[in-house]
Amino acid sequence: MIRIALLGATGSIGRSTLEVVRRHPERFRVVAVTARRSLPALREIVEEFRPERAVVADREVLAAAGGPGVRGGTEWLGGPEALVEVAGRDDVDVVVNALVGAAGLEATLAALRAGRRLALANKESLVAGGALVRRCLEEGGGELVPVDSEHSAILQCIEGAAPEAVARVVLTASGGPFRGRTRDELAHVGPEAALRHPTWNMGAKITIDSATLANKALEVIEAEMLYRLGYDRIGAVVHPQSIVHSFVEFVDGSVLAQVGEPTMEIPILYALTYPERVPDAALRGFDPVACSPLTFEEIDHEAFPLFSLGVTAGRRGGLAPAAFNAGNEIAVAAFLEGRVSFIGMAPVVEAALAAVGGSSPTSTDEVWEADREARRAARAAVERIKERTA
Ligand code: NAD
Ligand code: MG
Repeated sequence: MIRIALLGATGSIGRSTLEVVRRHPERFRVVAVTARRSLPALREIVEEFRPERAVVADREVLAAAGGPGVRGGTEWLGGPEALVEVAGRDDVDVVVNALVGAAGLEATLAALRAGRRLALANKESLVAGGALVRRCLEEGGGELVPVDSEHSAILQCIEGAAPEAVARVVLTASGGPFRGRTRDELAHVGPEAALRHPTWNMGAKITIDSATLANKALEVIEAEMLYRLGYDRIGAVVHPQSIVHSFVEFVDGSVLAQVGEPTMEIPILYALTYPERVPDAALRGFDPVACSPLTFEEIDHEAFPLFSLGVTAGRRGGLAPAAFNAGNEIAVAAFLEGRVSFIGMAPVVEAALAAVGGSSPTSTDEVWEADREARRAARAAVERIKERTA
């Protein structure tokens, strides 16, 4: 029985994870669930899965609903520290980190320090604190298995290969809802259009990141943090059908790809049971004819400048990836609130990057300082852009 702590249980990845668990009750048991503030949804999950612990990160929301305490066999806890604490408990085998944003970093580190398997969906924690995560992994104990479909694809393709046999990887990107549009055509697109993703059904933040291609930049950095190939050996290509989840090219010219329907349940199940493969009839029945044709295109750097901005931040290293991520979080929130336009997001992130320098972080304090500095600069840029366009 694999005991799971599910961080971000009420979100898109959280719900997909519960769907997988529901089909395999003999194999998985959810021992902890968390949410930021969606209490009714979390209560429903607790009633169905009966975990030992439930955490509401927003303490006030829990306080208004009776506060901490044991109810119906589940211990209710409040606050972000409780969330980190359940990630490190020893009655857990796998921590699924499905939180959104750099806010997931402490939980990522806690799970690894406790020697757990970390099934990581929360790529922002790996981008913001990659050096710290790497150090945890190199010191031993924990294990990181990616949930992100591209990185799961790479893992599945390189399984059993010698590191020197891998020549390069190519991540695929759906291109989002604005694929094919020019920069000028993107000047007036609003949140509603940006939230209409053609192939994946995901949380709001990653859906906007997919529309700007910032998501693919985060994933290039994520790939570097996971597989250490060097940025010259990590590419990305647009593939609108989202059937090929990534390519791995080997030194002898052979190329492997992992393909399948765009459902996160496949990489989630794989991250939970890796390296084992577990039968799941609900996920089978791939039909290549129904998926055809499969097409590939170059990324349009002019229309989607956040892609190269992010990759450049990755190459710069040090605290630049943390600044890119923080600036992007502010830009996405401002776009969703109608405070900055779609094409206004890149200058906001540029301002965040310009505000932060420095070498690789050696502590979370250094990451949080860069994160705060970058957010401050990004918020100021949002105000400046608003004034200029008012
Ligand atoms: P979501 O917004 O649907 O869900 C986020 C979850 O985290 C919710 O349960 C929410 O309550 C909780 N949460 C958010 N902010 C929090 C905070 N500050 N403190 C505590 N809890 C908080 O997001 P999602 O789409 O499920 O994405 C989760 C992560 O997985 C992201 O990093 C995303 O990039 C990554 N990811 C998602 C998908 C997908 O298909 N949705 C695919 C690949 C990777
Ligand atoms: Mg992905």
